[in-house]
Amino acid sequence: MSFVAIAFLATLSASSQHGTHVHGSAELAIALDQAGAIQIELSAPAHDIYGFEHTAETAGEQAAIADANARLSLKSGLIELGEADCVLSDAQIERSDAAHGHGNVRVLYSGTCAHAERVRVVSTTLFDHFSRLSQIDGILISTHFQTVFELTPASPSARLSR
Ligand SMILES: [Zn+2]
Repeated sequence: MSFVAIAFLATLSASSQHGTHVHGSAELAIALDQAGAIQIELSAPAHDIYGFEHTAETAGEQAAIADANARLSLKSGLIELGEADCVLSDAQIERSDAAHGHGNVRVLYSGTCAHAERVRVVSTTLFDHFSRLSQIDGILISTHFQTVFELTPASPSARLSR
């Protein structure tokens, strides 16, 4: 297992351990390896993605989940890394229960980047699709550097500092 994969997994388990979540606030973890493979994990309160956190009971709720999942599965434009030129090829969506009746949505994207070494910027259209989201706290780990960033509806693109 590569260093990046190990660091990535450590980050994920650290972020999923605290259990609580804040509505409106999502987390994004991006890992790039030397060979150009990319993995992205998005973790958000189900409230921000579906509008509710209980199991879907009505046809309307089921439709809301299907619509949101279709948006989450968009592999083009949702999360972009500029000149690194990444193409996402897979999106796996899972729901998990958080503490006290809350629920989380996790999406694991994977793909490849033509120029992983050129990554300088992260941008997203998630706020356009999910208006309840107000903040995304991110971490990016590559073989060259790692950094944290923050995305908001007013600033959905972040320049990465090395
Ligand atoms: Zn909640």
